[in-house]
Amino acid sequence: MKEFHCGSLVPGCDWHTRHEEEAEVMRRAVEHLRTTHGEDTIRESMIEAIRSRIVEAKDAA
Ligand SMILES: [Zn+2]
Repeated sequence: MKEFHCGSLVPGCDWHTRHEEEAEVMRRAVEHLRTTHGEDTIRESMIEAIRSRIVEAKDAA
């Protein structure tokens, strides 16, 4: 299970997501950045920033 906390990229944002597939976590994160943070253009550097912050989620219930 992969997990991404937006607050690790955008200080103060408490949005997070988790999914089995890293690709799906990426997709959701990009969508969140577009809709919530107004990032119309998601640059390669942004993709890398997100990917580097995706962590293995502890399997808490
Ligand atoms: Zn956010």
